[in-house]
Amino acid sequence: MIDDTDFAVKPMNCPGGMLVYKMEPRSYKDLPMRLGELGMVHRHEKSGQLHGLVRVRCFTQDDAHIFMTQEQITQEIQNVVRLIDEVYSRFGFPYSVELSTKPEDSIGSEEEWDLATTALEDAMKVMDMDYHVNEGDGAFYGPKLDFHLKDSIGRTWQCGTIQLDFQLPQRFDAEYVGADGQKHRPIMIHRVVFGSVERFIGILIEHYAGKFPVWLAPVQVKILPVSDKYLRYANEVAEKLKKYGIRVETDERDEKLGYKIREARLDKVPYMIIVGEKEEAAKTISVRQRDAEKDKQDMGEMLLEDFVYVLRSGKKQLESETD
Ligand code: ZN
Repeated sequence: MIDDTDFAVKPMNCPGGMLVYKMEPRSYKDLPMRLGELGMVHRHEKSGQLHGLVRVRCFTQDDAHIFMTQEQITQEIQNVVRLIDEVYSRFGFPYSVELSTKPEDSIGSEEEWDLATTALEDAMKVMDMDYHVNEGDGAFYGPKLDFHLKDSIGRTWQCGTIQLDFQLPQRFDAEYVGADGQKHRPIMIHRVVFGSVERFIGILIEHYAGKFPVWLAPVQVKILPVSDKYLRYANEVAEKLKKYGIRVETDERDEKLGYKIREARLDKVPYMIIVGEKEEAAKTISVRQRDAEKDKQDMGEMLLEDFVYVLRSGKKQLESETD
């Protein structure tokens, strides 16, 4: 109770997705309707069980609810599987898929369960993907595909799920008008890719041991002026890089260069730019990279534009893949 109003903590996003669907009368032409939401949800985890970003009381689900006709199920499931595959591959995670079927305590008819389970199986078969069956491990309202990714130290994490649900649309009396002019019941998919955004970030930090790939690194470039005298030139370089959309920081502290290099290396920054008298005079930069073998880390002196090209050649590839 706050200011005479009752508030509640939200445990799941599904009813909200359902209410958005029901805001207007829907026709078969609106389907499939895909409603995404980065929704904050809550769990009352015991304080002793809270753990970093991995187990928290309040987290963000990258949730979506897809409303569709029966004929659209297989295609929609494939779309989600493809999305999950694209995202996990981008981060370099191998993963495995589990299909969980009807549990003992469940709602809905045998026919609905068969149809839903077959649809999930069909999608996996059409896409020629391996999966493991967990008999009786589905949610009480429908079967599901779970995606377990494997991190660099061999641990597995269940992140993505695709759940097929005939029940919630019935309980909320969701409808659409079909081509025949009659009212029909849509079928619903619940899906997440990351699961919990916070937890996924926790997994990523450990997976890379803090050594994020360039495209993901919070700071991509650290600029290290040899001394205070070159601070102005360092900032000039930083401003130019920012204009190219590169995430950059300047180490402005009055410390020895060796110390700054060591710290930037501990921070696992992908690129260091060193500027001193020589670079300022020639309007160049000296670059060191994190990921090369030891004797190749020093990339030498170059023009800023050439460095941007090197850094972006990785980034460009990413953008075109995303398109
Ligand atoms: Zn849901």
